[in-house]
Amino acid sequence: MECIKTINEVRSIVRKAKKEGKRIGLVPTMGYLHEGHLSLMRMAREKSDFVAVSIFVNPIQFGPNEDYESYPRNMKRDLRLCEDVGIDVVFAPEVPEMYPEELLTHVVVEKITDNLCGTFRPGHFTGVATVVSKLFNIIQPDIAVFGQKDYQQLVVIKRMVRDLNIPVEVIGAPTVREEDGLARSSRNSYLSYEERKVAPVLYQSLLKAKGMLDKGERNPDNIKKVMEVMISSKPYTSIQYISIANPCTLEDLEVIKDKALVALAVYVGKTRLIDNILWGYEDA
Ligand code: AMP
Repeated sequence: MECIKTINEVRSIVRKAKKEGKRIGLVPTMGYLHEGHLSLMRMAREKSDFVAVSIFVNPIQFGPNEDYESYPRNMKRDLRLCEDVGIDVVFAPEVPEMYPEELLTHVVVEKITDNLCGTFRPGHFTGVATVVSKLFNIIQPDIAVFGQKDYQQLVVIKRMVRDLNIPVEVIGAPTVREEDGLARSSRNSYLSYEERKVAPVLYQSLLKAKGMLDKGERNPDNIKKVMEVMISSKPYTSIQYISIANPCTLEDLEVIKDKALVALAVYVGKTRLIDNILWGYEDA
């Protein structure tokens, strides 16, 4: 497995694989890899013949008061994990390789970025859509795998690809969790021992919402209230949002009909964690 830092080099390696008739898969990541990332890589492995993983902590998707500088990094360990999964090439550019000069062109996905995380992280999804479209142009994959854990991101990328006719099949992969239900995340490493103990309440509250929906509750406010009480009863927690939304438009639902996205962002100590579940889908 090669670890490549330049756009020219990775392009030529992928071009060679394409010439050999291989189907190219891409898994974009910010590194500090965990089992969630690895499941995406295995899915890409199954659905393509040559898998590229990008590892790039993308500065333009972080707000001024967010954790760009302190975001956890461990390239040596990441490369070992990629090698173990059977990745063909890792693309790990430095910031000047991706942004050599002031960026005057951005990809802005509207409306579906107004709610949920978009409300609290202005510019975040523009940063994500812009870097992902750059990665799509650099690697030119046939398929790309993204996690449902970042559900809004997945919807944004799918919409960008549709709107801009980018010839990539975007595949969503299920959320991988710790045994106690906490969604795997590179940011979990920020949690203290005490904070880590309360963090599973996010998923527990989502399961509670699912239980209420299964039993016929259709008023989002009633469900959100129960979730709020559950989460707030734990120390260190501070809710940023709880939303019950249309899974396609991501707009808050006034009445729940057949399908819903239940999503939340909660600070546990200083660490912002997100999670979600889909309700009303056969395989969700
Ligand atoms: P990140 O490195 O956090 O930018 O994540 C890279 C990719 O891994 C994104 O598509 C995420 O949605 C996905 N991902 C992160 N955590 C998980 C998880 N627990 N389960 C599944 N996919 C995940």
